[in-house]
Amino acid sequence: MKVLVINCGSSSIKYQLFDMEGEKVLAKGLVERIGIEGSILTHKVNGSKYEIKEEIKDHKYGVKLVIDALTNKDYGVISSMDEISGVGHRVVHGGEKYSESVLIDENVIKSIEECIELAPLHNPANLIGINACMEIMPNTPMVAVFDTAFHANMPKENYIYPIPYEYYEKYGIRRYGFHGTSHKYISNKACEFLGEDIKNLKIITCHLGNGASVAAIQDGHSINTSMGFTPLEGLCMGTRSGDVDLSIFTYLMKKENLTYEDVDTIVNKKSGLLGIYGKSSDFRDVRADKVAGKEEAILAYKIFGNRIKGYIGNYAAQMNGVDLIIFSGGIGENDPSIREYVCESLSFLGLDFDKEANIEGGEIKVITKKDSKVKAMIVTTDEELMIARDTKTIIAK
Ligand code: ADP
Repeated sequence: MKVLVINCGSSSIKYQLFDMEGEKVLAKGLVERIGIEGSILTHKVNGSKYEIKEEIKDHKYGVKLVIDALTNKDYGVISSMDEISGVGHRVVHGGEKYSESVLIDENVIKSIEECIELAPLHNPANLIGINACMEIMPNTPMVAVFDTAFHANMPKENYIYPIPYEYYEKYGIRRYGFHGTSHKYISNKACEFLGEDIKNLKIITCHLGNGASVAAIQDGHSINTSMGFTPLEGLCMGTRSGDVDLSIFTYLMKKENLTYEDVDTIVNKKSGLLGIYGKSSDFRDVRADKVAGKEEAILAYKIFGNRIKGYIGNYAAQMNGVDLIIFSGGIGENDPSIREYVCESLSFLGLDFDKEANIEGGEIKVITKKDSKVKAMIVTTDEELMIARDTKTIIAK
């Protein structure tokens, strides 16, 4: 069975075609600058890269080019689009309705539309991708896999904000959580690797990329997570502030005559690592300048790391303990120093850190000593594979 995974942004389409026998990626690629000058499709097969440069005026045309690339005589991997058994779409917001992935029909589309207010940047783009694929492949089943789904069954006390309750009732203002596909994938993958039943472990997963979040997982379910009503809350991120005292902004709005839009831009695009360090939002730059002894980089690094420690402590307390801590995402998988910075403070929990194992890194690896009471691991995330698996399961029904 072949499954196409689509992750659609406002001007881009990321895709991967899986052969579900052996869960192999046959081809993957990216359509960029849709509707903008200089649009391009980059298609990758077996380590080779092909670039198709032409005007891509809308997403429907972008999807058509993806299918053309996948079926191309020279660098294609299937002979016709009929070989694709199903398409899995990443959808950022599923609201309160979806705690699982679902086969897309008119009602599901309506629900995704209803969530546009909650994810104004993402859900419209995800819908455009779904519609484009449905037009090009009208007979192929489509599945929606939501970033919020894994967190949808958090206990109420962890998703209600301590603000007037009527805002939850009127507008659905609550913690939703994001990166669910990744938190679910890495926690399950780690348990599979350790030969443990996920239901028996208390797990804290740290997905550390440009966007970053921590989740507490008990009985195999997310019971709390650091991102909230939007992906702004929680950790210090590349350009997002994470948790801050809201009064800062009522103060600044008066002092600097800022509008709501200005504040939105500041907290989402100008804060986090970029805001403190100033030069870049890329963790590699922060680390390099930290090693070089630059003060602003050291500060950004410590703030980033201390927030992670804070959430681990918080969630260990909420679960009355933790058995396993997982690092993932571009930073969590690739930066040994931040794992060390965080784990060195966790010996009080019974975590016996293995510095040597940590330095070498690896796709999936334990980075604590053999008898450590609390284990720490690196697990490389694969959200696309998770989407492909869910799609396969749903269309097989
Ligand atoms: P996104 O949230 O966009 O998916 P990623 O998971 O790709 O982000 O993570 C991007 C982050 O990972 C960037 O801050 C980047 O600097 C960091 N990163 C990538 N490779 C390394 C590395 N070798 N060492 C440290 N950080 C890295």
